[in-house]
Amino acid sequence: MSASTLAHRAKELDAADPLADLREEFIGHNDPGVSAYLDGNSLGRPLAATLDRMTEFIRDAWGGRLIRGWDEGWLDLPAAIGDQLGATVLGAAPGQCIVADSTTVLLYKLARAALAAGTGRTEIVLDRDNFPTDRYVMDGIARECGLTLRWVDADYDGGVSPEAVAAAVGPQTALVVLSHVAYRSGFIADVPAITALVHAAGGRVLWDLCHSAGSVPAELDAWNVDYAAGCSYKYLNGGPGAPAWAYVARRHQADFAQPIQGWLGAGDPFAMGADYVPAAGIARVVSGTPPILGMLAMQDMAALIARVGIQAVRAKSVSLTSFAVEAVDEVLSGHGVVLASPRDPDRRGSHITIDHPAFRDITARLWKRGIIPDYRNPNGIRLGLSPLSTSFAETWTGIEAIAEELGRLR
Ligand SMILES: *Cc1c(COP(=O)(O)O)cnc(C)c1O
Repeated sequence: MSASTLAHRAKELDAADPLADLREEFIGHNDPGVSAYLDGNSLGRPLAATLDRMTEFIRDAWGGRLIRGWDEGWLDLPAAIGDQLGATVLGAAPGQCIVADSTTVLLYKLARAALAAGTGRTEIVLDRDNFPTDRYVMDGIARECGLTLRWVDADYDGGVSPEAVAAAVGPQTALVVLSHVAYRSGFIADVPAITALVHAAGGRVLWDLCHSAGSVPAELDAWNVDYAAGCSYKYLNGGPGAPAWAYVARRHQADFAQPIQGWLGAGDPFAMGADYVPAAGIARVVSGTPPILGMLAMQDMAALIARVGIQAVRAKSVSLTSFAVEAVDEVLSGHGVVLASPRDPDRRGSHITIDHPAFRDITARLWKRGIIPDYRNPNGIRLGLSPLSTSFAETWTGIEAIAEELGRLR
């Protein structure tokens, strides 16, 4: 397929896309200075509804209700939004998800609680290609608690297979920490199969859903997941630094030993009691005062996803990444660009990574042109295709610009 055919095909795909109009609900969709935003997997665009929500909150709720706001709903917001995310994107029944902290801090808290509930086993299993924060946090916990890290190798353009995990787990496995969607390759792990085999070995699993929540459907309850966490500023469009969410399966809540015992995770915070008595249920995951301003925006994206249905979001995501792979094969592979993501759409999240030695320099030049993908070491461009805010035409604009930049190298 030639470049002009691909441009035409992108237009046709946009015209046939039942979700195409939703793009206009995002601020900046018509910004002439950004002709392709391909980094929604690092920072999703804001919804126009969020501008109104923030303004109203500051004026009426914060400005009008003042300290009374805490009793009038703010204190319940972390669990209420947790339930909303559970229902729309995580496949979790109410009372198991809560918004708090950052993913990094929640990974620490959930892992410590999982280990405290364990049976004196000595190993944490994780993969070498997992996101740095996951590896660093587990490394710190291992040192703190005198445990051993057991590493699983992942395929460079794939991820962690059930076979690889099966080979790593054993009678010493306390906890396995993996990502649902790999942040570099975009590989979707087989969560139910891996969770089942870890359980069969007597361990528990903590899943990181940062790169899937809001784009790839999850079924945390049906998959029998123990613990999960993820961020809300990627496909949940919660804004820079928005707090993360945690999932603790109901069966593990009673033995959830909070490593950062703060007053707002206590059963009756305003009793100001002498001793820490944890709240019943998911509320005990909280440590301190919830960041209310930071959790406003994600509600608009959750509402939009609920309106459309996560399956429709996933269908659009699959067509976007499939079109991107097709375009990469047609116009970039001749320049020596290599696809570092799965070809099978069933195993691919909502971004693809392509590798070429010149991509560090080329990314800088693309940003100057208003084409915004991101760069990941050692030589990859990640094309994040946020399903509701990215068009096929925009995807093509980005890939065509990469081809032009590669053409200039010759
Ligand atoms: C983005 C991302 C994080 C980020 O963690 P923060 O605490 O929000 O900085 C963690 N894990 C994965 C897999 C990610 O993709």
